[in-house]
Amino acid sequence: MQRFAIGGRLFPLVFLSVYVLVDWATFIHDPPAINITPWNPPAGLYLALLLARPRGAAALTFAALMLGDLLVRGSPAPLPVLAISNLLVVLSYGAGVWLLALRLRFSPTLGRMYDAVWLVIMVPVAAVAAALGFALPYMVAGLLPWPDLPAIAAQYWVGDVIAILTVTPFLLLHLHRTPGNGPRRSRIETALHALSVAAALAVTFNPLVPDPSKILYVLFLPIIWVAMRRGLAGTTTAVLAIQIGVIIGLSNTPGHWQDLTYYQTVMVALAGTGLLVGAVVSERWRLEISLGQRQAELSRVARLSLIGEMASNLAHELNQPLFTTVGYTRACRQLLVRGGEHAAVLDLMDRATAEAERAAEVLRSIRGFLRQDGQPAKVDLRAALDGILVFIRPDARRHGIALAVDLPADLPPLWIDAVQLDQVLLNLLRNSMDALTNREGRESGDRIAVTATLRERMVEVSVADTGPGVPDDKVGPLFDLFFTTKPSGMGLGLPICRSIVEAHGGRLWLAANGPGGACFSFTLPVVHHA
Ligand code: ADP
Repeated sequence: MQRFAIGGRLFPLVFLSVYVLVDWATFIHDPPAINITPWNPPAGLYLALLLARPRGAAALTFAALMLGDLLVRGSPAPLPVLAISNLLVVLSYGAGVWLLALRLRFSPTLGRMYDAVWLVIMVPVAAVAAALGFALPYMVAGLLPWPDLPAIAAQYWVGDVIAILTVTPFLLLHLHRTPGNGPRRSRIETALHALSVAAALAVTFNPLVPDPSKILYVLFLPIIWVAMRRGLAGTTTAVLAIQIGVIIGLSNTPGHWQDLTYYQTVMVALAGTGLLVGAVVSERWRLEISLGQRQAELSRVARLSLIGEMASNLAHELNQPLFTTVGYTRACRQLLVRGGEHAAVLDLMDRATAEAERAAEVLRSIRGFLRQDGQPAKVDLRAALDGILVFIRPDARRHGIALAVDLPADLPPLWIDAVQLDQVLLNLLRNSMDALTNREGRESGDRIAVTATLRERMVEVSVADTGPGVPDDKVGPLFDLFFTTKPSGMGLGLPICRSIVEAHGGRLWLAANGPGGACFSFTLPVVHHA
């Protein structure tokens, strides 16, 4: 279980002081009065404590309840009655929390949808036990009439449930910021969210509306909007704000205060709905994050396997410039020994340097593949293709396959992570090479053509070959993970290319196919010039 940054020697004192203060500020009856109220925020405080810091929390909660009764409510019953009834409350919620934490592996950071759902289930159930446990000692002692038990328990229940559903998740989420709380929202949007909450409250509670209880559904609208845009954390703030707004609104609407229990019942529905929608939205964000991580991991694995494949090409590609460099330097030496011409020596040295630089360039290109995924940036398609063709060319030459690149002269830069673009290009080109070299019976005039066209804000890049194409029955699963027709294939290339392209807002598809060859096309956004 994750820990909360609360504790220290002074913590019990701080908690008790805050508790009594909140109790005093929100308890709406004049003392001496029994602690039954349709809005009981202190319950939200101690439930957060029980969930976040179970050790010693039950004793502290009991002390807080007793202090509240003695200091805020003027000791409304004999001490044993107060003690037994408060003890039963602590036991009820304690049992609920015990069940959540130990039996259901609930995490108080509300990091998963599972946690929010179990909280929303546990609270109303434990509150039934707490409501009965609280009221019964007063009945037994003759301080409250037995026939009033259902009404009293219902009022207690609704007061606790709404307070816990509004205050507890708010505290839990704001004391411990769970990572992945979703995309950052602009200040303007945050202001609009706050405005929508205020507007819904103003529509519900204003002098033109004689009976606010009839239009309480208006309050659901901002909650659903906030839940969808801000997930669980934002929803808890909005729900708390609406709850406080309802209390203020009602206290300013003459003749409706006695209906508080009804209003609070609607608030329970609102808080429950908001929390569940918020939890679903937060869960989606978390899944997106973990899917992204998994995809990054997968593309790294695929990259590594490609590197293995490339090793022989690389050896060939490096061997040539190194061999030539050695030749040039030997020739240099001989010239110098023979006292040859200065200019001829310089020319040979320049050639040797150029060859060594070519070898270094090849090595630089491969290094890009070993890097972790980076950030999107401006990338020149032509330069990226030049880098990739270094790996393809030797093989193509060996098999007599022509490589044609036809890009518009004014192509704007693409917006993508350079390494990932390399990966897409390399995968498609390698697939075309495989298609051409693996088929039975070689044909003359084989070629692979890379073309690009600018379409509005996207560039469409196509890699077409004159291979046998994809058999009709293989077109369906082409982009499935691990689908391959090659003996040593991994079936990762196309799905990874597609996810890379889609992650950058583009598409990848089989654009043309037939016995004359296959053509894969993908789109990527371009960088706009202002
Ligand atoms: P792998 O290359 O490891 O098989 P891919 O996902 O890159 O994995 O490709 C999946 C399958 O798609 C290949 O096995 C092949 O059957 C088919 N394919 C891909 N590109 C072409 C192409 N240009 N021509 C014909 N078939 C292709």
